[in-house]
Amino acid sequence: MKSTILAIIVLLPGVAAAAPLQPLPMPSADGRLFGHLPYGDIAALDLVPAPPGFSIGATCRINRDAAADLARLLVAAADSPGVGTSLRAVSCYRGVAHQESVFCRERHRTTCVDPSDRARSVAPPGYSEHATGYAIDFGVRPTRGCPDVDYCFASTPAGQWLMAHGPEFGFELSFPAANRQGVTWEPWHWRWVGTRVEEPGAAVARLLFARARNMYPALPAARDVLGANAAAVAMPAGRIVTVRAKLPDVTGVRARRR
Ligand SMILES: [Zn+2]
Repeated sequence: MKSTILAIIVLLPGVAAAAPLQPLPMPSADGRLFGHLPYGDIAALDLVPAPPGFSIGATCRINRDAAADLARLLVAAADSPGVGTSLRAVSCYRGVAHQESVFCRERHRTTCVDPSDRARSVAPPGYSEHATGYAIDFGVRPTRGCPDVDYCFASTPAGQWLMAHGPEFGFELSFPAANRQGVTWEPWHWRWVGTRVEEPGAAVARLLFARARNMYPALPAARDVLGANAAAVAMPAGRIVTVRAKLPDVTGVRARRR
């Protein structure tokens, strides 16, 4: 009897035969993987705890250069009617090793049932802005029916406040609606690039995100770099980096919802 039941289970399609796991492919010639740009881990010494009470889960850490602007942002948000202290952090710094567990939940974390599909909403390990310590996934508490990392965040008072004021504090939306990168719209994911290129750490952040900003402009984006005074910045290694932001044409942009 036992062997009969076993034989039936094995023969039923979709019961015993799981979809095969696929390894991550090699990146393209320009270094991208599934459209995501490569980012390495920030040094642990350059990470600082986010302000108390900001993290929803365990205290998250951010790049020290973004700390002052984040603190200013949270003070301004707290003073904004309807927002108050509802603006919180779902996730901040995530190292490459952590990103492996986020990217695929299978036991073998560098393989997925469909890595290309997964990469539309989650960056593969080694390709996440979160590894730099500059990126924050914002959320709200109380949730009032809006789960974390969901499109509904854009409709919350906190999400709308970020869209209107995030760039004033050096933050920009990495993956706007209908972006050419092919990543899903992420109204919760903001990266820090500073309010001015002369601001401590901003030149380094903008150098790190230069390709992303040129190829797939953020919206809203930090815009100060259009000034003549900010056209060129001397980097510590003696390199001269020209930083320019091009505001995207928003005509025809449609928000994607699920
Ligand atoms: Zn994110």
